[in-house]
Amino acid sequence: MPTDDTAPAAKPGDRGTARPIVHYGEPVLHRACKPVESFDTALADLVEDMFASMYAANGVGLAANQIGVDARVFVLDCEDADGERTVAAVVNPVLVLPPPPRELMVGDEGCLSVPGPFTDTPRSATAVVEGFDPAGNPVRIEGTGTLARCLQHETDHLDGTVYVDRLPAKTRKRMLAEAGLR
Ligand SMILES: [Zn+2]
Repeated sequence: MPTDDTAPAAKPGDRGTARPIVHYGEPVLHRACKPVESFDTALADLVEDMFASMYAANGVGLAANQIGVDARVFVLDCEDADGERTVAAVVNPVLVLPPPPRELMVGDEGCLSVPGPFTDTPRSATAVVEGFDPAGNPVRIEGTGTLARCLQHETDHLDGTVYVDRLPAKTRKRMLAEAGLR
């Protein structure tokens, strides 16, 4: 039997449908998401739609509540400080930061739910997320650089915090006005 080795491997999101991204101010972005209890086909389909939505919006990370779904899941596709790429979906993630005093990095951060502006946002220079893949296997991602920032930004979303909530009120107001949201 010949094997069909010319068929391209399916990429994350290929089976999914890009859904609209919800913006700052929608209640689903401002409360903690429910933990996932079933690692079923509905979850696999959700993850595919999340990858499709993230890529369609040219994002590097997306949390489920950004497409209006109350579930503790995020996807990401970004590089660490050494340029090494990570593509992952994490279910029921738990963020683990190094103990204080922590090395901080200040760098540009933006969000698909606050479209347009980016601004300097301090974050821990390293971060770890522990959780499960969509099949229910344990996963652990250690990040530096953009990956560390993304791990913190996406777990924040699932806790109901948008990155602008971490900025001074004056800066937040300006960012939301720039995004046409307030
Ligand atoms: Zn975001």
